[in-house]
Amino acid sequence: MTSTSARDGRDLAVEGGRPALDGLPPFPSWPQHSEADAQALLGVLESGKWGSTHGDIVSTFESEFAAAHGAKYGVALTNGTLAIAAALRAAGVGVGDEVIVPPYTFIATASAALFVGAVPTFADVEPDTHLIDPASVERAITDRTKAIIAVHLAGSVANLDALNHIAETRGLTLIEDAAQATGAAWRGRPVGAIGHLGTFSFQTSKNITAGEGGIVLTDDERLASGVYSLVNVGRVRGGGWYEHASVGYNLRLTEFQGALLRGQLTRLPEQQKLRDENAKLLTQLLADVEGVQVDREPAEMTAHGRHLFMFRVPELGKAGLRDAAAKALNAEGVVGASGGYVPLHRNEALLAESTALAERLGQPYPQADCPVSDLVCTDTIWFPQTIMLGSTEQIHAVADAITKVVGSGDALKSSN
Ligand SMILES: *Cc1c(COP(=O)(O)O)cnc(C)c1O
Repeated sequence: MTSTSARDGRDLAVEGGRPALDGLPPFPSWPQHSEADAQALLGVLESGKWGSTHGDIVSTFESEFAAAHGAKYGVALTNGTLAIAAALRAAGVGVGDEVIVPPYTFIATASAALFVGAVPTFADVEPDTHLIDPASVERAITDRTKAIIAVHLAGSVANLDALNHIAETRGLTLIEDAAQATGAAWRGRPVGAIGHLGTFSFQTSKNITAGEGGIVLTDDERLASGVYSLVNVGRVRGGGWYEHASVGYNLRLTEFQGALLRGQLTRLPEQQKLRDENAKLLTQLLADVEGVQVDREPAEMTAHGRHLFMFRVPELGKAGLRDAAAKALNAEGVVGASGGYVPLHRNEALLAESTALAERLGQPYPQADCPVSDLVCTDTIWFPQTIMLGSTEQIHAVADAITKVVGSGDALKSSN
């Protein structure tokens, strides 16, 4: 790259050019907290009630979070991974049952099935949303299938109409993995209890966080009691301390986490509004940029959770330049731009455990047929929600960065 072209600002920052976000402040850090959070934490500390078996902060948060999502019951627990495992177990999914999951998601969606002795099998995603494809779910059903996990990836919402219909007609449990979709809604109803159960994560990167944490939502009292017992060593609500009606784990949150989560929940609506405005602006700015396909938002989705901003770069993908593009975006100042997930149906650890389990049980392990997941894993780029908390000026610069990087095919080749 010549210094002349570097001076006009069109040169890639990764090649020594001026970064598109040069001169702008850094994006907001994450997580965020307020003085009230500090006071709440101190309050727990001084109360001496550090555990949720003795305090009522976690249970208050459970009610608040469930109410915010229009669900009757909420049971908080240690993380989003074990939230899925607990939801599966409460629904009676166990040894040898098959659980249909998408391959384009965080590994926990699939590994949670293995944790309860079930076999994860795969249904493909839609090319323009990265969300599980109901038609592929239909094809993946066998006589061993017990549950479907719909992942509301990026904060967008999987086709709950079609998936609920499949679950109903086939007698399956539908679990919403809403780890990335706090505050998202489908046809005006918040996600989480539209399926039989919904699970959320409060891990550090998520839109509300206590460092770690999770919750299961449901409208079904029997399922809620089941999750409660799994979280609380088999106890039943209102029962005795040493009365264990079933065999459960201890998955409880601390009151410290409950206090942080209550504070986070109060800030969520305002942050979501800002993320939403910025995401809409960015989508608009990228609408005519050649080589960029921003994810389609389902028409029935009435609120997007805005955890990730996701788009495909098909030409760069074909040229094997997606990872170079993600790296170049970071150099431009789009912090956290990433090539995203690798296909879970090709993850060797998952496959080894799944096939070994199926073999021990003497049942076949269904072959995954997920060409769209294979494809999008080569040409997807996303960045995290913190970018969507930036200023309008920053969002314009992000659009410039993407336009510049995607329009620099050859230069990317040399930086690769
Ligand atoms: C974060 C996440 C999980 C797991 O949540 P943890 O709290 O990290 O265990 C599960 N599924 C999806 C889609 C996630 O993004």
